[in-house]
Amino acid sequence: MLIRNIWAVGRNYKDHAKELGNDVPTEPLFFLKAGSCLVEGSSFTLASWTQNVHHEIELALQFDSHLNVAKIALALDLTERSLQKKLKENGEPWTLAKSFTGACPISPLINAPSYTKLSSLKIQLFIDGQIKQSAFISDMIFPPAQLVEFAIKHFPICPYDLLLTGTPAGVGPIKKGQTIKATLGQLIEHEWTVL
Ligand code: ZN
Repeated sequence: MLIRNIWAVGRNYKDHAKELGNDVPTEPLFFLKAGSCLVEGSSFTLASWTQNVHHEIELALQFDSHLNVAKIALALDLTERSLQKKLKENGEPWTLAKSFTGACPISPLINAPSYTKLSSLKIQLFIDGQIKQSAFISDMIFPPAQLVEFAIKHFPICPYDLLLTGTPAGVGPIKKGQTIKATLGQLIEHEWTVL
């Protein structure tokens, strides 16, 4: 199954919008990562030209052939933060900071629970055993169902596309040799080694 597009949402948790000095949005802020940014498995490589890649743990929703959300996973919306800051200051697009080769490591997909069940779950990220990001899905400014509705109304969503729902506060740099663990309640636990 070919994943053509990764529709990603920025600033969907208040604390994260604040930590990057952004206003809290009044409607979802979408940007794109190329589908070919995806990396499956338990390791990923940092592109050699990058200097300040940040982890952003995110709940990923996957559409089925009827454009219903059928599967979920945890994804890392890897971001070259220094570049993104410069691009933002210049009012330029984020593509180089967000959609570089290998910019979206992803856990295996599992069957999606109900939105009610999803909202009760905690999303967490640990680096070498230390907790860095932690929030409830219910802390999102725009909950998953609303993001899906917005995306389907505005964008040419294709079967199997992913929707990344934004990251909680606590983003920071990652380095070669680290182990990153991500969990979603009891439903998903996945580890990556940074190469
Ligand atoms: Zn993100």
